[in-house]
Amino acid sequence: MKNIIIFGAPGSGKGTYSDEIAKRYNMGHISTGDVLRAEIKNGTELGLVAKGYIDNGQLIPDALMIDILASKYDSLPQGQGVIFDGFPRTIAQAEALKKMLADRGHDMGMMIELIVPEDVLMFRLLRRAGLEGRADDNEETIRKRFEVYHSQTEPLSRWFEAEGIRHTFDWGILLTKEGMIEAIFEAIERENGLKTDK
Ligand code: ATP
Ligand code: MG
Repeated sequence: MKNIIIFGAPGSGKGTYSDEIAKRYNMGHISTGDVLRAEIKNGTELGLVAKGYIDNGQLIPDALMIDILASKYDSLPQGQGVIFDGFPRTIAQAEALKKMLADRGHDMGMMIELIVPEDVLMFRLLRRAGLEGRADDNEETIRKRFEVYHSQTEPLSRWFEAEGIRHTFDWGILLTKEGMIEAIFEAIERENGLKTDK
């Protein structure tokens, strides 16, 4: 399977769809948010550094993030394809990912962009706050994360378009989780030559 980059605002469903895709196609899955939260939980030095940024809705510095990502990638079994969930979030991270993969004779595969209106994102994140109790899921920090997304991450969408690998899925059109998943599976299968046209 080709590698997959899942891209979208906080609360857009990156983790949810990544899990579905990983299960269906038996792919590796790297969620940088989950990696960082595990470090925090285990009280590591990296976790301590990460916590300062995450609790303020800010991004972890690129150089640190890129190292973490590369070592995670190398720890996964090769050949099945990997889903990158929450990485890259800046142009520098995207350039680094492209190079890291090229150095290993791999490529980025396809990018899946999730478009969801901001009021829906806020609703989901506040609901998740009640269920999971994540420290950064409070209204003030969520607003900061949206700002960071708009200023640092969203411009990457065009970068992926220029790479010719962007596939966009719009909640405003597809409207349900099932609708989104079906459309995403179809695109993945088409890209991997698994889909026989009806
Ligand atoms: P969701 O998972 O619901 O889409 P999210 O995108 O805000 O929401 P995570 O991807 O779990 O959540 O990220 C949580 C936090 O971890 C970010 O706000 C940021 O501080 C840090 N983080 C995660 N990935 C990166 C990254 N690639 N670069 C810098 N910081 C990151
Ligand atoms: Mg997530």
